[in-house]
Amino acid sequence: MSNPRVAYFCMEYGLHEELPMYAGGLGILAGDHIKSAHDRGLPLVAIGLFWREGYTQQRIGGDGYPYDDFPAVSMEGFEDAGVRFHVSVQGNQVECRALRSERYGTAPLYLIESVEDRFRWITRRLYGGRHHDRIAQEILLGVGGVRLLRALGHQVDVYHFNEGHAVFAGLELIRERIGRGLSFDEALADTRDEIVFTTHTPVPAGNESHDLGVLHEMGAWLDFNQGEMERLGGNPFNMTVAGLRLCRQANAVAKLHAETSREMWKHVSGAAPIVAITNGVHPGTWQDARIRAAFEADDPAGLWNAHQEAKRELCADVKSRAGVELDPGRAIIGFARRAASYKRSDLILRDPSRIEPLLERREVQLLFSGKAHPQDEIGKRIVANLARLARQYPSSVVFIENYDMAIGRALTRGCDLWLNNPIRPFEASGTSGMKAAMNGVLNFSVLDGWWPEGCEHGVNGWQIGDAYEGEDRDEHDLRSLFEVLTGQILPTYYGDHERWIRMMRASIEMSRWRFSSDRMLEEYYEKLYSPKKRLRAVS
Ligand SMILES: *Cc1c(COP(=O)(O)O)cnc(C)c1O
Repeated sequence: MSNPRVAYFCMEYGLHEELPMYAGGLGILAGDHIKSAHDRGLPLVAIGLFWREGYTQQRIGGDGYPYDDFPAVSMEGFEDAGVRFHVSVQGNQVECRALRSERYGTAPLYLIESVEDRFRWITRRLYGGRHHDRIAQEILLGVGGVRLLRALGHQVDVYHFNEGHAVFAGLELIRERIGRGLSFDEALADTRDEIVFTTHTPVPAGNESHDLGVLHEMGAWLDFNQGEMERLGGNPFNMTVAGLRLCRQANAVAKLHAETSREMWKHVSGAAPIVAITNGVHPGTWQDARIRAAFEADDPAGLWNAHQEAKRELCADVKSRAGVELDPGRAIIGFARRAASYKRSDLILRDPSRIEPLLERREVQLLFSGKAHPQDEIGKRIVANLARLARQYPSSVVFIENYDMAIGRALTRGCDLWLNNPIRPFEASGTSGMKAAMNGVLNFSVLDGWWPEGCEHGVNGWQIGDAYEGEDRDEHDLRSLFEVLTGQILPTYYGDHERWIRMMRASIEMSRWRFSSDRMLEEYYEKLYSPKKRLRAVS
């Protein structure tokens, strides 16, 4: 049987750093999905929006505060796909086109935008604008996406909504069937059979909902009655709830996340079962070729040399970006994350009496990077706080502005340790730790997201804490963090070089298939895309 033809919908794509159309992990995941589909010759059409000003380019001002810059995105590598279609937004018939990139062979990427300048505001900035803008964007992605596929004449067996942003595509598929004479119920049943859905954030506020009246005014639903819309997403209309009711099968992005999501959405009647498909990262993008070669040659000394080479390159990069000279002979701990409070980016620096002795003796050097959403004041304060701490410890703590894929790549191959200390269970999966693991950069992480699946404490990395979720968890995790760091990690790094290299090897061995996007794609085909298998959620 041939592989099902997939139409993949996502608001953001992280393909390479020159195309700043991603905000974080969701986009990187979508980019890696396309790349693995391409590597394996799988038929997939990726659909998104062409963000003319992309996502924020972050600059830290003289006052230590992050500022946003939005340079125009280059269209290089894209060409007009040559079709036109209309989407109704706020009573206007918006004429749309798609820009196509053929760079990924069997997995072409189509990014939609308005043909006319007067409607280009819709796709100006990724996650930009206010409430109404977001709805307009989602109409272009969902409704526009289906109309684009029709205009192109693409045959599709399965529609994959990566996150709730695309659920209006489900409404469009129902509308098409009603137009062919089906009732709403019949149309919904047939439509569900061809949709699969990936849910992401377990942070409740991260699951968007919109007032049905506003959605109507914007044109997201015109052909249904209010009762039908409420049956799908409630009122306010929750995009994740609608996703779960519009699909035949849903998935979460790690095993723990599947448990959390089932609990979170168990009140939703008529929701599809949620299976776990743990995220993965694209080895060709994220694994250093020298490190891979040394690993495959079973050459421990070569592996260390490759690591040190990547580390020296990282130090040179840090010098040119931040003016700080890190010592490649001393341990570097990396932490690069979107600025969200549940990620607790400053945890390791919260108690000066614990961290200062380590910094003074240069036993650890800390390297931070991370962006805040332009409208997220709390996130900006997190970034400003890290920038302030970097100034407080100028030779041993560094903040690199404008976290992007290039910085992510340099850090996840050039650091020694990768720190991750979110509040459990809010990190759905996390993928930067997988990139690190594949390069022998040892994970040092709370048991959240993917890490409970990968961690063998003291063998391929270390765990922080013990899945404790009590009120005083910050202090609990902080104590554990320092016990493991000073009791196990640093003595190994400085005192047992052979064991460290064994652990690097174990880390690469553990991650190179299990946390690669090739394995992930295989599971998507098996558990989600294949029409024969309707897996039940395991409870
Ligand atoms: C990998 C990556 C992410 C996602 O990493 P998380 O661990 O999920 O936070 C975000 N941004 C960039 C630039 C990345 O390379």
